[in-house]
Amino acid sequence: TRDDRHPQGKKRLGISFEFFPPKSEEMEGQLWTTIEALAGWNPDFVSVTYGAGGSTKAPTLTTVRRLIADTTLPTAAHITCVDATREEVRHVAEEFIAAGVRRFVALRGDPQSGVGAAYAPHPGGFANAAELVAGLRDIGDFDISVSAYPEKHPESPDVAADIDMLKRKADAGAARALTQFFFDNDVFERYLERVRAAGVTIPVVPGIMLIQNLTQLKRFASLCGASIPTFLDERFAGLDDQPQARAEVAADVAAEQIEDLVRRGITDFHLYTMNRAPLVSAVLQRLGLERSGDARSGAAA
Ligand code: FAD
Repeated sequence: TRDDRHPQGKKRLGISFEFFPPKSEEMEGQLWTTIEALAGWNPDFVSVTYGAGGSTKAPTLTTVRRLIADTTLPTAAHITCVDATREEVRHVAEEFIAAGVRRFVALRGDPQSGVGAAYAPHPGGFANAAELVAGLRDIGDFDISVSAYPEKHPESPDVAADIDMLKRKADAGAARALTQFFFDNDVFERYLERVRAAGVTIPVVPGIMLIQNLTQLKRFASLCGASIPTFLDERFAGLDDQPQARAEVAADVAAEQIEDLVRRGITDFHLYTMNRAPLVSAVLQRLGLERSGDARSGAAA
């Protein structure tokens, strides 16, 4: 049962997996191998990201269609409202809905020119993710997740402004927030206290990054406004030429982070899989979760 999932056997541990749509045939093969390998962990849902600048609807739609057709995994489509009119966004949403999607991860998105470029709402579009959530709710009663930023969004003047936006998204009908990745659980706990003090009651699910490559992650993290604590440099020091040892450390780091959050009362986790299974499975094994059933064969509950 799901109760087996909790390391201490108290509450169930909920997990979700995030994938990105493949950009080549090789990456497509990699993704489906990964999905097959991870389906047996019976995630609460899996999600597929939506291309930056709204430019790559097709690969997300193709991936989501196949997940719905070939697996029993509850599937969420990420959707953004950047650089698009309300009608265009609604049209994209309707294509997802026609494919069987009932779950969305609703995001503002970043301008096509890339993360860090100044965002300007489309004149005929949704101004932010809160308006997008409301727009989706106008179409139907979907399960909608939104973003949250424990270290604040890079464009945001301060954490209070960020939490205000989170409140607007929750008030518009978001069911939960999935966070940007972070490595300092104290930072998350302080953030969560402020979120609750602001009257936001929806679950705030930590986004857990699995470290495939610390050097690459540092570059990416600086764009996202996520910090990389020095303890990670120490943990990975001297392992550049030892992929196996590096993978062990990466699994330890993520499992330790999750175990510590569980001790602080958190029960649900969103895993950034980077479309690779071994590290994800290593972490879940360390947490004492059991693989049960096979979502591909329809055995999953
Ligand atoms: P919002 O919730 O609308 O805003 C986020 C914060 O930024 C707000 O709190 C606000 O304080 C601040 N802010 C917003 N607009 C402005 C402004 N104009 N001026 C000043 N401050 C402002 N991106 C993709 O393209 N595709 C994806 O699939 C995708 N998936 C994601 C999944 C998760 C779990 C997360 C955390 C992020 C994801 N992103 C994705 C990235 C996201 O689109 C960017 O972080 C984007 O910059 C903000 O989108 P949002 O929905 O968080 O914005």
